[in-house]
This record gives sequence, structure tokens and C-alpha cells, in this order.
Amino acid sequence: MSSTALRKAKPARHKTAAKKKDVYKSAQRLKKIFAGLDRLFPDVQCALTHKSAFQLLVATILSAQCTDERVNKVTPSLFKKYPGPHDFARLDQKVLEQDIKSTGFFRNKAKNIIGAAKKIVEDFKGKVPQSMDEMLTLPGVARKTANVVMGTAFGIPTGVVVDTHVFRIAHRLKLSSGKTPENVERDLIELVPKDRWIPFGHQVIWFGRKICQARKPLCIECPLNSLCDAPDKTV
Ligand code: SF4
Repeated sequence: MSSTALRKAKPARHKTAAKKKDVYKSAQRLKKIFAGLDRLFPDVQCALTHKSAFQLLVATILSAQCTDERVNKVTPSLFKKYPGPHDFARLDQKVLEQDIKSTGFFRNKAKNIIGAAKKIVEDFKGKVPQSMDEMLTLPGVARKTANVVMGTAFGIPTGVVVDTHVFRIAHRLKLSSGKTPENVERDLIELVPKDRWIPFGHQVIWFGRKICQARKPLCIECPLNSLCDAPDKTV
């Protein structure tokens, strides 16, 4: 092919790529993805055990780099000893570190939990704030944690929870190519209707745990198989 012909051919390839991208994000495909997730997880719940917004906040901070199962083993006795923000605000960091050691990164988590509890007591009259902006002022709270608490505890859709499962599956299903959780969330907010933001996060997290696992996804059991072009598909 001559160099002139190559130059002419280039825009056509871009057009094809753009068209393919649109196909992955088409309303029809998204509808099928939502339907598949609804069939798999019709009554989805947050997997972290909690009895209040504050306990969910603590459990979510503990769940960073740790499984929910492990967190759920630690929190029952933790919340029995320290049920609310006033109890945590008074705690010595070293004491809390021992209680949460098995969740990993325990020094930082203990520091953030005590810091968040103090701020809630001092600035928010002992109640977890109900806005994203206020949530983000709490130590150790970024958008993922804030979305979990706002959505699950208060039923307020502030965004889509993007944890490690949602991040991976958004890429596998080509719903986002974002390099950071914030970028992936931005893409998902565009694609997922607002009334689905809360359940969608939970559904995809369960989907990632049960089927679309990181190392060996169970593609043979996956209802989204026909919609998926992931390079690491197993069938
Ligand atoms: S087909 Fe496999 S990789 Fe694709 S979404 Fe399903 S489980 Fe994940």
C-alpha cells in the first residue's frame, strides 16, 4: 500500500474502533447485562455485617485490602465492645490495632477509624454525615467508602461503588478503560441509570466473588458469556 493510501486508511480504522466501543456501551447490551445481574442476584445486600451507618463505615474501612468474610469475623466482637462513634473516639490506637490486626494494614486503619469517629463526634454531633462532601472530610474515607455508606445505610445514590471486583469487571465487560477507580466510576455513572447505582455496585461485587473471579473466572457458568469479549475469558 502506498504511503498516501495508508494515510487515507487511518481514519477508517479509528471509525471502526469507535463504532465497536459504542457497541459495548449500547443501551441494548447494557440492558442485557442488567438483566443477567438481576437474574443472578435479585435481592442483593451489602456483604458487610453492620447495625448502623457508623458500623458500616468502620467495616468498609476495614475491608480495604481484605475480604468481607475476614472483616465479618472481626466486627461482631469489635462492635460489642465499641458500638458507636463515641466509643471509638475515646480509644487508644494501640488497643484498636490489636482488635483489627487480622484485617491487615491495621495501623493505618486504626488511625483512620479513630480519626473518623472523633470528627463525627466533634463536627457532626455523633451522626455519620449524609452528604458526599461531608463524608469525604472523614479520615480514611474516599469515594468508594462514601458510596457504600451513602447507598447502603442511607439509600442515597451518590455514585457507583468501585472496589477491586467492580474495577476488574468494568474492564472485562468493556464498560470502562479507566485507569483509576474514580475514572471507572465516572464511566459507570454515565452508563448505569441512577436508580441502579446502589444495587449495581452490590451485584457486580457478588458477581466478582462468585463467578467473574480475578484469577479463574467461571465463564462456563456466566450468563453474560455471550456479551463478553474479555481477553482472559476461560471459555
Ligand atoms: S464470560 Fe467470564 S470473564 Fe466474561 S464476564 Fe463472564 S465470567 Fe467474567
